[in-house]
Amino acid sequence: MDNECMARLAEQWKQICQNYSSDNLLHAFQFIQDHSLILVEEFYKNMLIEKESAEFFSDDLIQKRLRDTLNAWLLESFSVGINKRYADAVQKQALVGHVHARVGIPSWLIMRGVREIERKMFELLDENPDQGMLTTCSYIIQIMGFATEIMCRSYEAKTALNQEIKHSYRVFSAMQDVAVQKDKQRSSLLDWENELMFKVFSEHEKLNHPMLSKSEFGLWFVHKASYAFTGSDQVDLIIERIYQVDELNQDIMNCTDKNNMLGLIQKIRNLNREIQLLVDQLFQVAEYIESGNDSLTQLLNRRYLNTIISREITFSRKNHTPLSLLAIDADYFKSINDKFGHAAGDLALKFLAEGLQKYSQGSDYVFRIGGEEFLLLLVDTDEKRALNIAESIRKYIENGMINSIQGHQFKFTVSIGCALYDGHPDYQRFLNAADSALYMAKNNGRNRVYMAHQSVKPAVQPLSV
Ligand code: GH3
Ligand code: MG
Ligand code: MG
Repeated sequence: MDNECMARLAEQWKQICQNYSSDNLLHAFQFIQDHSLILVEEFYKNMLIEKESAEFFSDDLIQKRLRDTLNAWLLESFSVGINKRYADAVQKQALVGHVHARVGIPSWLIMRGVREIERKMFELLDENPDQGMLTTCSYIIQIMGFATEIMCRSYEAKTALNQEIKHSYRVFSAMQDVAVQKDKQRSSLLDWENELMFKVFSEHEKLNHPMLSKSEFGLWFVHKASYAFTGSDQVDLIIERIYQVDELNQDIMNCTDKNNMLGLIQKIRNLNREIQLLVDQLFQVAEYIESGNDSLTQLLNRRYLNTIISREITFSRKNHTPLSLLAIDADYFKSINDKFGHAAGDLALKFLAEGLQKYSQGSDYVFRIGGEEFLLLLVDTDEKRALNIAESIRKYIENGMINSIQGHQFKFTVSIGCALYDGHPDYQRFLNAADSALYMAKNNGRNRVYMAHQSVKPAVQPLSV
């Protein structure tokens, strides 16, 4: 939340208070002061019933501290109308929201607690009804709701930031560790296995060998690699095998028969080979996506497409800047490969990638999303500039000449679909609009640019026709 937003919220708090007389405000404050301990008690009594909250409030010391904090929060929130320090009050709520986000207390849990406080408050007011009761209730409910709303706002902002940081950390750690860890962890797994065999064969009285999950390899995998490679199929398969190995290792520790031991060792060796293979696969994927580049064209690949598009959409919505997207597909590319060979086709794709970069700026994003399919995300670009760029690319490719290694010379063309971001928060619609336009460009004869219009229905057709 920026300063402007905080100032706006402070103003709103002030407006709520201005709807009440100073007597009303004082009366509400006194009511809260007289009953705050009961209200706090009610909050925690109900919180402890919730399974999700028990983990946050398990410790007695924490409970005592939180009781004090909540008590202070109630008193502070209802003294704002009297001391008129609205900006401080907003800041305080925002801070509480930040803390909740940091700790991981979900917003709904806080709202659940506030609901209990409000219910209890009505109950108390009902026991001693007085003349201004309705006014006091109305004020208290508004302040409770508003304070919670500010908390949730800052909670969400903080959580979104955390997610972004988490994501970039994940990418960073996966990339950074790839080269270093690949060989190191491979040998650490082998070391663990060799040591086990050595112990078995040297006939120790009582065998003692650490679990694989607690070995250097196991710890690295469980703590770091599984996080860095989140989402890869191999992660779960590897973890499953690590624990299978642990069980077999335990069986060996308990085994007294040498022949049985050898059978168990063989099973462990087989599982370890599988683990090695899976880890190799993980690293291969990681090397491919290293810095998110496609190796043929050096462009971004599909991996970061969603992250980048949703980031740019949010930026565009927030800052009211135009955003355009070009979907580019090479025409009749299959026949280029058929006539001149795959290597010549590759050269043509490189030429196309160069063209895309030539006509875009450093702030734009160029993706290769499929074999001969590309996306160009043009930031801060309106329809006119987008169409200009698209047309320049189309001409550049049309006029270019590809010289294959075998001495062939050939030309090819591209079709381009162009879409201007229409403000809808779902980025898939934006992608679909560019796809539909590309489909139209293909259908209308290829080697042309087609602009998507608002009425264009989301594409159901594949990119190529
Ligand atoms: P259209 O004008 O309708 O797009 O026709 P097309 O032949 O380009 O469309 P289609 O999608 O049927 O074929 C795409 C071809 O692109 C198939 C494949 O041989 C070729 N291709 C995909 N990736 C690569 C690549 O990395 N290198 C080369 N040389 N060819 C590729
Ligand atoms: Mg094509
Ligand atoms: Mg295609």
